[in-house]
Amino acid sequence: NDDQFKKVISHAKEYGYVFQSSEIYDGLSAVYDYAQNGVELKKNIRDYWWRAMVQMHDNIVGIDAAIFMHPTTWKASGHVDAFNDPLIDNKDSKKRYRADVLVEDYCLKIEAKIEKEVKKAKKRFGDAFNKEEFLSTNGRVLGYQEKIDTILKRLGKSLENEDLADVKALIEELEIACPLSGSKNWTDVKQFNLMFGTKLGASADSAMDLYLRPETAQGIFVNFLNVQKTGRMKIPFGIAQTGKAFRNEIVARQFIFRMREFEQMEMQYFIKPGTQKEWFDYWKETRLKWHKSLGLGEDNYRFHDHEKLAHYADAATDIEFKFPFGFKELEGIHSRTDFDLKQHEEYSGKKLQYFDNEDNTSYTPYVLETSIGLDRMFLAVFSNSLQDETLEDGSERTVLKLPAVLAPTKAAILPLVKKDEGLTKMAKDIVDDLKWDFNVTYDEKDAVGRRYRRQDAAGTPFCITVDGESLENNTVTIRHRDTMEQKRVKVEELRDIIKKEVDV
Ligand code: ATP
Repeated sequence: NDDQFKKVISHAKEYGYVFQSSEIYDGLSAVYDYAQNGVELKKNIRDYWWRAMVQMHDNIVGIDAAIFMHPTTWKASGHVDAFNDPLIDNKDSKKRYRADVLVEDYCLKIEAKIEKEVKKAKKRFGDAFNKEEFLSTNGRVLGYQEKIDTILKRLGKSLENEDLADVKALIEELEIACPLSGSKNWTDVKQFNLMFGTKLGASADSAMDLYLRPETAQGIFVNFLNVQKTGRMKIPFGIAQTGKAFRNEIVARQFIFRMREFEQMEMQYFIKPGTQKEWFDYWKETRLKWHKSLGLGEDNYRFHDHEKLAHYADAATDIEFKFPFGFKELEGIHSRTDFDLKQHEEYSGKKLQYFDNEDNTSYTPYVLETSIGLDRMFLAVFSNSLQDETLEDGSERTVLKLPAVLAPTKAAILPLVKKDEGLTKMAKDIVDDLKWDFNVTYDEKDAVGRRYRRQDAAGTPFCITVDGESLENNTVTIRHRDTMEQKRVKVEELRDIIKKEVDV
């Protein structure tokens, strides 16, 4: 799986999806640039989310708040005091780790042992093998599972109680039980604030300390009443936003999974106190449905309900996705009560209340939040789509089976022969016609088979080839990326054929 992940990263570069930031200066750690294809995929994911959340819900509207916010925002939100990661340094390797992530890595190691048992059993039992049953009955597997649960529970408790000494003790114990870093020499665990600071204003004494927002949510909370009043919104209603967020992540690795500058897609749903359970269930189900609609494989998702809750939350779950390095958080769904609005009321001295016409009451709404990282979603889609296939004739192909609705380029138009002016002109005319509706591209370089492979690897769902017969009867062949089937169709039909596949 390490190999698979390396492949994902190099493919993302080779096919113009993701570059390291400032690469000519040897890059900047945990900062990445989206390239010509990546920017399209990212935009399509964002649009797919926006459409499902804003366009398809009558009672959800969008905003685009500034990255800079009044510094008191972050006092009120709790980020100044509590947006910390527990850090631990290894004295021998001089490597710095996020203590909770390190503990999770030990758990992943144990999880790998479970996978190994599964593989062994599969081999032994063949067709009769039932994974579910095996996982719930095999003694060794249950032992491993219990170990993971106890470790995570202890971690949760120690962090909650700010018992950093116990977090260190846990790491030391784990390192002896299943060595990972190869060294036992650790510093104490310390808390480190993740916000990036900057200054507003030129002169030293009048300059104001600002933060780059570490989440987009606060821009929604502080605008709650503005949107509610000007949009004449009735509870329940939602405000959605996509935009950059910044965190000074310590363990910056795993490519675009954890970055210092990333993009979030968040929605805050304002509800009547007392209805939070029902809306929590609704959004859990609705968001999972959204993920599944992309066809990345139903088994690749799971909920991880939080046992340890932030003090303001009364329920929280993560939608986890099976990345090449294991199941990890992709999206968070949180029932946040009235914590955020109440905090802003207190710090701003302004009421953030809703007047309910129906029962003539005023109250501070509760909030249900869905929060997903756009870059993480990108990685989920991209890594899941990248596949190596052995074809019937024994040859290999690499294909990026992106959901057609998300693919950067929907079709490549290829003249069979580059030197034939009739063919190239007809191909370019098709490009000029289709580009009003889709991102399409023209490609005439190399033999047509090589061009097909190139488009397969770039994720283009259709190749349209113009050949000698095309000039005679105005038909072309259209080749499907996933099945590689080719069909001869009329040029006038192309638009509908593509539309059928790429429309949601
Ligand atoms: P993690 O535990 O992985 O650090 P988190 O619980 O801090 O994530 P939230 O604050 O709930 O994350 O943010 C919501 C979403 O934003 C996450 O589910 C994730 O998809 C995304 N996200 C958070 N931090 C990063 C990051 N550093 N890089 C990319 N995406 C991120």
